[in-house]
Amino acid sequence: MSRIVIIGGGVMGSSTAYYLAMAGHAGDVTVIEPDPTYEFAATPRATGGVRVIFGVEENIRMSQFGHEVYSRFHELMAVDGTPADIGYRRGGYMYLGTGHDDVELLEANCAFQQGFGCAVQLLDRAGIKRRFPSLHADDLDIALYSPNDAFIDPYSVLMGFRRKAISLGVTYLKDRVVGLEASPTRVERVLLESGRKLSPDLVVNAANCWAPDICAMVGMGVPVKPLARMSFYYRVPTPLEAMPLTRHITMGGSFRPFDAGYLGGMTRYDQEPGFHWDLDDGLFDTEIWPGLAHRVPAFETLKMQRSWVGHYDWCYLDGNMVLGPWTGRLENFHIACGFSGHGLQHAPAVGRALKELLVDGGYWTIDLARFDYRRVMTGIAVPDIGPKA
Ligand SMILES: Cc1cc2nc3c(=O)[nH]c(=O)nc-3n(C[C@H](O)[C@H](O)[C@H](O)COP(=O)(O)OP(=O)(O)OC[C@H]3O[C@@H](n4cnc5c(N)ncnc54)[C@H](O)[C@@H]3O)c2cc1C
Repeated sequence: MSRIVIIGGGVMGSSTAYYLAMAGHAGDVTVIEPDPTYEFAATPRATGGVRVIFGVEENIRMSQFGHEVYSRFHELMAVDGTPADIGYRRGGYMYLGTGHDDVELLEANCAFQQGFGCAVQLLDRAGIKRRFPSLHADDLDIALYSPNDAFIDPYSVLMGFRRKAISLGVTYLKDRVVGLEASPTRVERVLLESGRKLSPDLVVNAANCWAPDICAMVGMGVPVKPLARMSFYYRVPTPLEAMPLTRHITMGGSFRPFDAGYLGGMTRYDQEPGFHWDLDDGLFDTEIWPGLAHRVPAFETLKMQRSWVGHYDWCYLDGNMVLGPWTGRLENFHIACGFSGHGLQHAPAVGRALKELLVDGGYWTIDLARFDYRRVMTGIAVPDIGPKA
């Protein structure tokens, strides 16, 4: 019998399975994942940025641990001597700002992150022009630059965790959770599409954008909804100097070097929450491309290669995750969702944290108690002085 059932085998479910397996519990863990190709999952659609630029201590510490794991991922997740390459590259991350409010925000952010040992620095307009001559900087007043931040390949990360967990003895079931049966204090049974019923001791809901549907099966409400983000991969005739993942704090949009070109992204904060899989090509031509070309004149001649839509599991309370048990109600039902666009970089820390909660009796490394479900019940947000995802 499986003692621990993880619902959803994306990067969160698979990282959790890996840390449980490394702690000697591989034989206790079953991961339920309906789609081993991960066609609609968030993870393979992600941009792949790992940054320490956050305004919440726990987020910074989780990113620092993310760097620690991802920089050694190839050896940590090697199976039978085959390394797990995720293309970890310290390409850097940079937020641009215009005007007094942006300057104040990024200055405060910089000082906050430096307090945790992050090698971040501020650039003024002249500094931006000198360091990144491809950028149009006349309307910029500040940049918060983090040269040690990195890019990774999201799909390879997911596959690395998954393969390693399986090699250690974790079971992945190709099935879908369609119901949960609960007593007043715990989840008793997990019902699968195939007709199977599992009776685990512990359940982890790591179904990301679909996590609220799983919660609804036991009457638990979470302030999380899908939020669409469009991604565009394009090339230009002449590559720019080495650029970090660059985004403007208030004007939105981002780009980073990717393959032989650049990967741009734009989150649809203007849209009704929910799944919106269709790409709005018109929006790229009329708004996004002109914005990109304004910031990087060389992008005027970009040639689109491909584009897609993915969805953040956006937490409407405060843009941060909801993690841990349903305290005071279904104590064996744990939730891990609401990552709001920064889950990939935090997956190692979240997997390790869930392992600690499930088998060690509490957090031993990074204390993530502020993010548990009690914050949803009380409606007390965790304020982030940093930029949005
Ligand atoms: C466009 C985009 C860009 C992003 N960029 C970044 C970035 O640069 N850096 C960063 O850190 N983060 C980024 N993110 C966020 C990051 O991708 C996510 O936070 C992270 O991948 C979430 O992982 P997950 O395992 O929770 O979700 P998923 O990968 O979505 O996995 C959830 C799994 O649950 C399964 N599931 C659904 N329903 C059921 C069910 N009923 N039963 C069983 N299983 C079920 C699904 O099939 C799916 O495989 C980005 C996200 C998007 C969409």
